[in-house]
Amino acid sequence: MAGIQVDVRLSGIWQMTSTVVRCGSSCLVVDPGYFPRELADLAGLVPKGAKVEAVFFTHSHWDHVVGHGIFPGVPVYTSSALARSVREGGLLATEAINKAREYDSQWYVERPWGYGWPRDVRGIDDGGWFNIGDLDIEGFLVPGHAPDGMAIRVENHLLVGDYLSPCEIPFVDNLPDYRRTLQRLLTIINSGVEHVIPGHGPMLSTEEACRIGREDLRYLDAIARCAERNDGVAANAITLPRAGDVAGMRNHHVENCRKAGLTAPS
Ligand SMILES: [Zn+2]
Repeated sequence: MAGIQVDVRLSGIWQMTSTVVRCGSSCLVVDPGYFPRELADLAGLVPKGAKVEAVFFTHSHWDHVVGHGIFPGVPVYTSSALARSVREGGLLATEAINKAREYDSQWYVERPWGYGWPRDVRGIDDGGWFNIGDLDIEGFLVPGHAPDGMAIRVENHLLVGDYLSPCEIPFVDNLPDYRRTLQRLLTIINSGVEHVIPGHGPMLSTEEACRIGREDLRYLDAIARCAERNDGVAANAITLPRAGDVAGMRNHHVENCRKAGLTAPS
């Protein structure tokens, strides 16, 4: 192994994780966010003499991408789908920027570098690689929460983006994709991974991550069964796998049911 140091920071918004991976004098920053003060702290984790050689976005959602301006000129790696959307001014790219701008405006957040996408965005395909210094980083497409989701494996660490969070239930964009992604993540975790970093919440052991993954699969299977029968009453009675007392989480469940095709979840 190349010998890496991994630092995870949780944002004041939704415990969004930002990660700095250092290998010798080379650094990778994943999902830099969110508030400018937090981004300054994140940049402070890069030791003198070391260089941020790459930023990685796990997916296009606004809270994960809008902080890149603290690392100007650094190449950004992400899924090919998001790289294409940025290039072509597509929906994923424009929605993210609009939502970030709206949130910042609502909470009077001043973002000195503005709201553009980075100039150098490089797309990775499923199973593709990029590197910083001597460190190779492998990407896995993980659609389901977002169509452009990508996890990366860095040595024995797996950074999964918005899956396996101990703070929230799954937020589903595409139910079959989400279930396949969870099954795949469980397989990857069981092949030599020791630490799992979700998009929201603290770093997890493999045991914790697998438990969350299995709970989420059970939850999504229950939704799928209700969707087959279009049974909104049964869907409403499904117990959330966690975070049931978090404000708004029940609404996310209703939205998950709607995404699964239930026409009248209540
Ligand atoms: Zn997300």
